[in-house]
Amino acid sequence: MRIGIFGGTFNPIHLGHLRAAEEVREALDLEKVLFVPSYIPPHKELASDVPGSVRLEIVRLATRSNPFFELSPFEVEQGGNSYSVRTIEHVRQRFEAVPWFILGQDAFNEILTWYQASRLFELAHFAVMSRPGAERPELADVLAEEAARFRPAPDGYVSSEGNRIVFVHVTPLDISSSKIRDLRRQGRSITYLIPKEVEEYIGRERIYE
Ligand code: ATP
Ligand code: MG
Repeated sequence: MRIGIFGGTFNPIHLGHLRAAEEVREALDLEKVLFVPSYIPPHKELASDVPGSVRLEIVRLATRSNPFFELSPFEVEQGGNSYSVRTIEHVRQRFEAVPWFILGQDAFNEILTWYQASRLFELAHFAVMSRPGAERPELADVLAEEAARFRPAPDGYVSSEGNRIVFVHVTPLDISSSKIRDLRRQGRSITYLIPKEVEEYIGRERIYE
């Protein structure tokens, strides 16, 4: 099965996430994209105190109309620090396939700081999405000595074990969760930046006010 894993804090999920995931799904012909909200992000403080259960609900509302998108509560249910290696191992077992790990260029540029970074490249293929404001450096500048196992291939790189890194240019949407939280804090409109259902939920529950 051709399966994608899209992790994030999704605090909240926005149209930048959704459109980028849809374009990657189409570009890589994925049969399913699992959206995996993280429990405690190891690399950043959660900007607002929004529990996992609420972020799960937000992602559920945002993804339910797309038959290719599926919500995975795996990291929230696991609790503790969320490590992508664990999530990838879980997905490999569940689907008996090597998944595509989907992330933005900004996140990819920091991947060496992730838990067991080197194993990540053995467990999954990578789909790196362009993102406004994020540069695309040379692979060696991002992966340091890890880059040695990759050689150039169509759209990106392939490792000696056959694991791929593919760069997908997606429609540039300069939207971030931080921007949405800022607008909310200032009492400003977030209409057309996030799905209508999520906007209504956030308004009703008075989140990020
Ligand atoms: P924050 O501002 O809180 O960091 P964010 O908008 O970056 O939020 P995250 O949950 O941190 O959202 O991102 C999850 C994943 O989605 C990351 O891999 C990130 O690079 C990617 N991503 C987020 N927004 C976009 C976008 N507008 N275009 C492409 N990729 C994106
Ligand atoms: Mg981010």
